[in-house]
Amino acid sequence: MNIKEIGIIGSGQMGGGIAHVSALAGFDVKLLDINNELLEKAKVLIKKNLMRQVSKDKITKENLDIALNKIHTTLDYSDLSNCDLVIEAATENEKAKVKIFEELCKVISKTCIIATNTSSISITRLASSTDRPEKFIGMHFMNPVPIMELVELIRGIATNNETYSEIRNLTDALGKKSAVSEDFPAFIVNRILLPMINEAVYTLYEGVGSVEAIDTSMKLGANHPMGPLQLADFIGLDTCLAVMQVLYEGLADSKYRPCPLLVKYVEAGWLGRKTNKGFYDYSTEIPTPTR
Ligand code: NAD
Repeated sequence: MNIKEIGIIGSGQMGGGIAHVSALAGFDVKLLDINNELLEKAKVLIKKNLMRQVSKDKITKENLDIALNKIHTTLDYSDLSNCDLVIEAATENEKAKVKIFEELCKVISKTCIIATNTSSISITRLASSTDRPEKFIGMHFMNPVPIMELVELIRGIATNNETYSEIRNLTDALGKKSAVSEDFPAFIVNRILLPMINEAVYTLYEGVGSVEAIDTSMKLGANHPMGPLQLADFIGLDTCLAVMQVLYEGLADSKYRPCPLLVKYVEAGWLGRKTNKGFYDYSTEIPTPTR
């Protein structure tokens, strides 16, 4: 494998998690975001999550120190010029991602692979906005990255075999399992998961059940580890809505229509855990349902 240095764009829940597992696996990491405050917040969270692994004897204190030293944060794309791979994990917005690739392609080497962690957007379309569609691939990590084992690998129409096998080997090196998905809207996991979450929001919207009743029903009645509304808050309601919009538009089927209540929560800026309020309010010790 030729990958030694990994650039990560976006230091939110996913970018931070990808930096965490990459550094722990021995890769040098350059983590980029739009301001220092966000990067500082990401570093604090990565440290906290590494410390949790130390306290559970999953890693040693030495592993933690080495991993933290491997993560360098930056606001400047030119710091990514030595990367062998850049993983884009910025907000789920196609225009924003295309703009990022435009900046990125100006500074990276010809051999650098670009991967995107998009939950739903066409890999082929994103690839075509770059100068290297053959070296572009979808690498869809699951949340929380340090815990979830799967990475979906999605080839665009132009992705070459070399890029695919390099990224599959990297996935193994990160201690993850890969599953291959064709390049269809939302791939496999979210094609199945997000319509279920959207249906849970409709169930709430239509008054069939309260937040608590819906989550309890799915936890105790379907043996899900988390209720769908709790899970939606965890994923981020903006991301959930963006994925439903991609499914709705990409598959042109009304069964994927985003629930108006989900739209309303996003319009209110109630995005779930990351803003401290979504279907639950997280400012209290035990999260309180907001409906
Ligand atoms: P997030 O809101 O936690 O983080 C997004 C980060 O991207 C923020 O820190 C933001 O400042 C940064 N960003 C936005 N525009 C940027 C730019 N132009 N340059 C650099 N950084 C920029 O979101 P997230 O949950 O980490 O999601 C990130 C990506 O991962 C999305 O594509 C999402 O669909 C995907 N994803 C999310 C989940 C999930 O459960 N949340 C799971 C798998 C994949």
